[in-house]
Amino acid sequence: MSLTRKRVLVTGGAGFLGSHLCERLIARGNDVLCVDNYFTGRKDNISHLLGLPQFEAMRHDITFPLYAEVDEIFNLACPASPVHYQFDPVQTTKTSIVGAINMLGLAKRVKAKVFQASTSEVYGDPTVHPQTEDYRGNVNPLGPRACYDEGKRAAETLFFDYYRQHQVRIKVVRIFNTYGPRMHPNDGRVVSNFIVQALKGEPITLYGDGSQTRAFCFVDDLIEGILRLMDTDDSVTGPVNIGNPHEIRVHELAERVVRLTGSKSKIEYRPLPQDDPTQRCPDITLAKKLLDWQPMVALDDGLQRTIGYFANMLDGSGLRSACNNAFEPNPRGNL
Ligand code: NAD
Ligand code: UDP
Ligand code: UDP
Repeated sequence: MSLTRKRVLVTGGAGFLGSHLCERLIARGNDVLCVDNYFTGRKDNISHLLGLPQFEAMRHDITFPLYAEVDEIFNLACPASPVHYQFDPVQTTKTSIVGAINMLGLAKRVKAKVFQASTSEVYGDPTVHPQTEDYRGNVNPLGPRACYDEGKRAAETLFFDYYRQHQVRIKVVRIFNTYGPRMHPNDGRVVSNFIVQALKGEPITLYGDGSQTRAFCFVDDLIEGILRLMDTDDSVTGPVNIGNPHEIRVHELAERVVRLTGSKSKIEYRPLPQDDPTQRCPDITLAKKLLDWQPMVALDDGLQRTIGYFANMLDGSGLRSACNNAFEPNPRGNL
């Protein structure tokens, strides 16, 4: 693990994953420039870093050019929850594609190594299971998820074209469902929804019959995988799947959350959103081989830690006010 002090740009640094990444990069002795337009991110996520001399935050939308002198770029800017990325689908596509071009142009000019937070969504509703990196996917290019799925696919194409055409050093990770502290209580993703509903004693909203599967990775494991990939030599580009291969049905997740919170919440069935993938689970053979990486945090442990985070918010009434504020992604950026 390199301990040289680098200037590192993290786009989407005030988001769920980005804020954990900024923290780890600072702990490794780097200078971090966090760039975010606060569309879904929050200043609260980075408030504990703001006083540090190694940390700087800049409000900026990556669909516009950015000139900064940095050694490494982690491109995480993009809403990740289906509810949020479908809120303004054109902006989601712009962020994925124009944002990628700008970050790649920046990387090319300053000769920085650049990381792309890609996604398991590039596999769409997969017909190969578990998903390996050579599977080309089954994405509906016209559906409500396409702004994200196709945006992220085009971003991968751009990364590989800048690599081949301009010799930009790239690292591409396909992130599978990740959860943990600092997800927004109204984020809309399944783990935060279920935990918040269970803690508040509200009905657990299960979409469809709950037989669809996902595999959930705790945030610390994911960040470790990302950093290990960034540390590999320049011949390693990815894409590499990073996720937890422990696959469960969404129905079972609901039951676990109810059990772990001791909640009296009942399950309430809701319609399955269009194009909701029926199954998803990473094959992490490549990550094990290349990075000597595999997740260490068991689902119940990770859920307990995430429940603790939301319970603390609730105790301090922060959860109630955050939820009551009916947080929405804000095109002009949240304060
Ligand atoms: P998040 O919504 O919490 O964070 C995204 C951040 O990007 C937010 O802070 C948001 O304000 C910022 N942002 C959005 N558009 C921007 C723009 N145009 N310019 C500048 N900032 C912008 O989501 P997250 O879970 O932290 O996801 C981070 C990245 O990881 C995303 O690229 C996402 O696609 C990818 N990813 C996440 C998961 C997961 O399970 N968490 C899975 C697959 C991929
Ligand atoms: N860019 C940027 N910062 C830089 C260099 C480039 O934001 O330091 C953006 C700029 O908007 C440019 C894009 O990245 O249009 C792609 O850069 P590239 O050099 O690949 O192509 P250009 O459009 O400049 O010919
Ligand atoms: N889901 C659910 N209830 C919720 C939120 C999500 O049953 O309140 C389901 C959703 O339909 C999907 C799975 O949980 O099958 C994961 O959804 P999420 O939005 O977290 O991420 P996705 O993997 O679909 O991008």
